[in-house]
Amino acid sequence: MTATNYTERVQRVARSLDQHGHELLFVTPGADLRYLTGYDALPLERLTCLAVKADGNVWMIVPELERPAAVAHDVESQGITLLSWSETQNPYEVLISATGKSSRALVANLMWAEKAFHLRDALGSEVQLANKVLSDIREIKTPQEIQALHEAGAAIDAVHARMGEWLRPGRTERDVGRDIADAILKAGHVTVDFVIVASGPNGASPHHEVSDRVIQAHEPVVVDIGGTMPSGYCSDSTRMYACGDVDAEYKAMYEVLQEAQAAAVNFARPGVTCESVDGIARDILTQAGLGEYFIHRTGHGIGMETHEEPYIVSGNTDHLIEGHAFSIEPGFYIPGKYGARIEDIVTCTNDGVQSANNTTHDLVIL
Ligand code: ZN
Ligand code: ZN
Repeated sequence: MTATNYTERVQRVARSLDQHGHELLFVTPGADLRYLTGYDALPLERLTCLAVKADGNVWMIVPELERPAAVAHDVESQGITLLSWSETQNPYEVLISATGKSSRALVANLMWAEKAFHLRDALGSEVQLANKVLSDIREIKTPQEIQALHEAGAAIDAVHARMGEWLRPGRTERDVGRDIADAILKAGHVTVDFVIVASGPNGASPHHEVSDRVIQAHEPVVVDIGGTMPSGYCSDSTRMYACGDVDAEYKAMYEVLQEAQAAAVNFARPGVTCESVDGIARDILTQAGLGEYFIHRTGHGIGMETHEEPYIVSGNTDHLIEGHAFSIEPGFYIPGKYGARIEDIVTCTNDGVQSANNTTHDLVIL
């Protein structure tokens, strides 16, 4: 990413503000700020904040002690006016004295509430949530971003391919999870974002992480893992494993899940609604009597955050567009017994989708 790329992103935001009748947008550290400027400041109590005005003017305020870091990140060559504040100043007043007051200001959705309230006080007006102003731009990935997501997919696939080295009866989920976390880093990620090893009945909890439960033979194990690559883009893939064969009832349900997941992947393309992709997977599971056990949406967008727009969920009538990147991850969760999920990240091409995850969708018997 060059300074010009970042400047283009920020100017696209400015145009969007103008088109929608907003005047100012404030963004604090996090994925939105990294996307717009490349600056990966930690979200801390001292104010760091980007301010984008509809007329194209852009400021960033940073604590005086972090000014060298902001300069090193080259934010000034992106056409951003860099402001700093000393420990005894009110940073909100300093920022607003540069941008001017406005009654049409937005704050990024994930800004800390205390910062949003302080901005409101300094502006002297209510602020609104940015809602989709940023995500409408972030959710359409460039070819470069698509490539980064496919690289992330290949890295997490490499970890799934090694599962037989770690997953064994008699080991705890936590021990297996630790080995997986090491492998996520070795595969090229810079952070481990989550590791789910959900054995037997723990598999019925979609967001179970790891526990001290000892993995048994002949039970399904949900392994859902992801991390962030040096590019800033995330991986996320779920595969199913068992140490020794599982019972026939489970296998029959798993076949339906495979069918549902593949059908949704085959159906997804530009022009169809997000909710219709969810419907394809859900109908197949429902017809097999598993609908009540499919307790979450079919997928979520992914990029610099693991969960972002677009959400593949009933009620989301937005259409898929070339450049969208999202998960397709139907599952079933039978309380007290077990669960299953198959998850690929796919990217929307001009006539279908391409999967970033390409390891087997079969239940892997180790
Ligand atoms: Zn996911
Ligand atoms: Zn996942």
